[in-house]
Amino acid sequence: MPYSVLKYPTPGLRKKTSPVEKIGEDVFKLVEGMVETMLAEDGVGLAANQIGAEYRIFVMNTTPSDENPQPIVFINPIVLHKEGEIVDEEGCLSFPDLYLKIARPERVRVYAKDLYNEDFVLELSGLLARAVMHEVDHLDGILIIDHAAGAEKEKVEKYLEDSSKGVKVSGGL
Ligand code: ZN
Repeated sequence: MPYSVLKYPTPGLRKKTSPVEKIGEDVFKLVEGMVETMLAEDGVGLAANQIGAEYRIFVMNTTPSDENPQPIVFINPIVLHKEGEIVDEEGCLSFPDLYLKIARPERVRVYAKDLYNEDFVLELSGLLARAVMHEVDHLDGILIIDHAAGAEKEKVEKYLEDSSKGVKVSGGL
């Protein structure tokens, strides 16, 4: 069963996640659900705290435009190296319909552990480098709206205003 993705301003999205100390049955189950959720939502990546888990884990679909998804799991990821810069539109499953122009490194080298406790290092570029930065941000409680600069800031303000209008408050003053 896919999880439902938490939407901003759910407080868990602002919480820094904790490193995984032991990769056991609970982590297997969580990752399985995260992959399922990412694919169901057509996401390129998903961080554990987007579904309410507090582990330092994200999953990524390395073939987002392909019919055969190739998901990878990153446990306790660390960005080792960043290079170049590209400004491009970026969305987030926790902010439906919000797309912001954000500067991200063109290439990254990232370290993580896989589900079998093996270390790996990947070099990624373009959209996948962007996704790594986006997901590592999530694990630190940082969101796309924090990267908005200039005109993009107004877009964020309007978005937050419109989405708060949708919230019905009852019984309060
Ligand atoms: Zn996101």
